[in-house]
Amino acid sequence: MEQIKKILVANRGEIAIRVFRACTELNIPTVGIYSAEDSGSFHRYKADESYLVGEGKKPIDAYLDIEGIIAIAKDCGANAIHPGYGFLAENTEFARRLEEEGIIFIGPSSKQLDMFGDKVKAREQAVKAGIPVIPGSDGPVSTVGEVAMFGESNGYPVIIKASLGGGGRGMRIVNSAEEVNEAFERARSEAKSAFGSDEVYVEKYIDKPKHIEVQILGDTYGNVIHLFERDCSIQRRHQKVVEIAPSISLEDGLREAICDAAVKVMRNVNYKNAGTVEFLVSDGRFYFIEVNPRIQVEHTITEMVTGIDIVHAQIHIADGKNLHATETGIPTQDKIPLFGYAIQSRVTTEDPLNDFMPDTGKLSVYRSGGGFGVRLDAGNGFQGAIITPYYDSLLVKVSTWGMTFREAASKMDRNLQEFRIRGIKTNIPFLENVVKHKNFLTGNYNTSFIDSTPELFL
Ligand code: ADP
Repeated sequence: MEQIKKILVANRGEIAIRVFRACTELNIPTVGIYSAEDSGSFHRYKADESYLVGEGKKPIDAYLDIEGIIAIAKDCGANAIHPGYGFLAENTEFARRLEEEGIIFIGPSSKQLDMFGDKVKAREQAVKAGIPVIPGSDGPVSTVGEVAMFGESNGYPVIIKASLGGGGRGMRIVNSAEEVNEAFERARSEAKSAFGSDEVYVEKYIDKPKHIEVQILGDTYGNVIHLFERDCSIQRRHQKVVEIAPSISLEDGLREAICDAAVKVMRNVNYKNAGTVEFLVSDGRFYFIEVNPRIQVEHTITEMVTGIDIVHAQIHIADGKNLHATETGIPTQDKIPLFGYAIQSRVTTEDPLNDFMPDTGKLSVYRSGGGFGVRLDAGNGFQGAIITPYYDSLLVKVSTWGMTFREAASKMDRNLQEFRIRGIKTNIPFLENVVKHKNFLTGNYNTSFIDSTPELFL
């Protein structure tokens, strides 16, 4: 098997920089790509060499230009591509094209991507592995009648979800039979416009669950291990805002059961790469929801509590190394360390007092926190940076670590207070209210915490 010589990162912002850093640490040269709109973006300058991609295309489409990206990789001798998250990370066609071109995809096989990029197919895998799933339709639903029948026999509320959905989009909660018609039509048209397919399925809506997910690493030799769980229940509109590792509120035995279940699903398919198995937990029971076959935004906190660099691991795995080879330093499952607690806050350029409206313009002042147990992963986090409206509004991920959860939380609070950002509105005041809230500090929260806690917005 060919060894990785040079890595192109088919992404932008903080995750592109995160991957460049890992490559540099591993002594691998890096290639960046940038859209015309990103010509002043930091990731362009963090790569050893960078090229304009998708000329004449829309800002988002530039990073989806499969053939353009392959041409750049070939021209500059990059024989491996890291997709980051979002954009092409779960695009089966992209993975397949790279396989055809003999370029290493730093991700799972196109077959595994196909299996997990689609929530209906992923559910089937969980069922096959004997893992509890949320009561739901057997496969996609194509008529209003099927949804109504499901609601009738399982009781409302139910949730209609896009098979190819992601990022908290393409979901509709249906509270009663009267709402089925409209919800079904809207879910389908939203799914079509956001994900290119109007395929949807229906599940029972679980009332006030926790979102618990398990970080997995698998290699080409059949080694599959977990790096424990993250609690991502602090969400707004089904999108994660603050994440915690490990969870501070799982009943005895549940952590082990959930981690074992996650490993089982992934071992069944000989999963290769980093991946996450997501669950909802309610009343002491857990239910599979989906697999994310890629690096996730919140991987930083797992790295802080286990000491394992997940991006290094991805690169080693794609390079054909054994997960436990001496140079990876990754021990076997029973020796994976779990040390203290870590919290991540997603600082975004959004105005919390104006329904989280994205703000744009120039950062006239940018000073961040720091100190022991603090990690910052920024995209365009510097004075003078221009924040454009074209991409997601993540500005910097602030991750803190402490021996106890309280210590990690107070470091987070102190760090958020130290930030000085002017010229652009951010959600920092809102995040401070979250990490100081007594229900957050005692683990007394679920996925509706933000919606049901108006004092966070003061
Ligand atoms: P995405 O891929 O868009 O992130 P997920 O399937 O991972 O979608 O779900 C995101 C969030 O939506 C979950 O963390 C949870 O808060 C909510 N959710 C999804 N399915 C259900 C369900 N059946 N019942 C209750 N909440 C759900």
